[in-house]
Amino acid sequence: MIVVLKPGIPSERIAPVVAEIEKLGYEARVIEGKLQTVIAALGDERTHQSLETLTAFPEVENVIPVQKRYKLASREAKPGGVDTVVTSRGVAIGGGQKFCVMAGPCSVESEEQLFATARLVKEQGATFLRGGAFKPRTSPYEFQGLGEKGLQLLAAAREKFDLGIVTEVLAEKDVDLVSRYADILQIGTRNAQNFGLITAAAKTGLPILLKRGMAMRIEEWLLAAEYVLAAGNPNVILCERGIRTFETYTRNTLDLGAVAIVKRESHLPVIIDPSQGCGRADLVAELCKGAAALNADGILIEVHPNPAEAWSDGQQQVDPVRFAELMRSLPPFISAAGRPI
Ligand code: PEP
Ligand code: MN
Repeated sequence: MIVVLKPGIPSERIAPVVAEIEKLGYEARVIEGKLQTVIAALGDERTHQSLETLTAFPEVENVIPVQKRYKLASREAKPGGVDTVVTSRGVAIGGGQKFCVMAGPCSVESEEQLFATARLVKEQGATFLRGGAFKPRTSPYEFQGLGEKGLQLLAAAREKFDLGIVTEVLAEKDVDLVSRYADILQIGTRNAQNFGLITAAAKTGLPILLKRGMAMRIEEWLLAAEYVLAAGNPNVILCERGIRTFETYTRNTLDLGAVAIVKRESHLPVIIDPSQGCGRADLVAELCKGAAALNADGILIEVHPNPAEAWSDGQQQVDPVRFAELMRSLPPFISAAGRPI
C-alpha cells in the first residue's frame, strides 16, 4: 500500500506513522518528494491488515492499495493464464469451451408450461433449463414461486429432456432443499452480497451461478465470488445481469464492458443474462450476439411458450419463435470469438 502524507509534514512527524505501519506487519520505505512524502508499505496486503486506519492520523492524506483484494478469483491465482472450466452433467462452461445456452422461464408455473419450454429450448440447442421455484419479487403481493413443487417439476424436466437445472436459492434455510434438485445454484442480484447465503450455497459443492448485484462494482462482484472460492468451491460462474443506472429505456443497463473486464481480471467463466439485463424481449437477441462476440462463455435467458400469460417478467421473456431466431443467428458471433459452435 502507498501511504500519502499531507504536504509539508516535517520529518519528525513521520516516525509515528512508520511505527504504526510496522506494527501492522509491513516494512515501511519513506520516499521524500519535493512537496509531499509518501511511504511505501511493503507486504502482502491480502494477509496483512488494511492500512486504511492510518487515515485517522492527522499526518496522513490518503492510503492507496496496490494489490487486488480478491486472491483466488484473480487471474494471477492460476498460473499460465488457464481459465476455470465449470462442468455440470458433462457440460463444460468456460475456458473457450462451447458457448453455453441456459434457457427457460422466469418462473416455473406448471408442468405444461415447463415441459413445453424445456422441449423447445432443448430442440434449439440449450444444455441447461433455467426456472425459478423461489422468486425474489419486488412486491410481496406478486407470485413468489411454486417452492418445492417447482423444484420437483424442474427435476422431472431434467429426466424427460436431459437438461441440467439452474435455479435460484433465495434463503439460507432453503440451501439443502434446493441443492437436492438443482445442478447449478443461482444466487440472484438481490443476494449477491448475502455472504451467509453465498457461503452456505458454496458448501454444497454445486456450481454457483453468481449474478452481479444491481448496484455492485466489478471489484465487489469478484469479492463475492471470492467467498465461494474461499469456502472451497472452485465452481463459480459469474453472470452479468445489468446494473441500475439513470436510463429508463431499459429495465437495467447490461454492462458488456464488465464482461470484458472480468474476463481479463479473472479465470472464472462469465455469462450474461440479457433478459433481466434489459427487460425487453425485443433486445435480447442483439445483446446475446454482442456477448458472444465479446467471448462471453454463455447466456442465461428467459423463454416462455406464451410470454403474454407469464406469471412474472412477461415483458422480457422471448417466445418460441424469437428464441429459434436467436439461436439461428448466434453461430457467426460465437465463431468470431474463436469458439467452437
Ligand atoms: C431471474 O433470473 O429470474 C432473476 C430474478 O434474476 P436477478 O436476480 O438477476 O434479478
Ligand atoms: Mn426474471
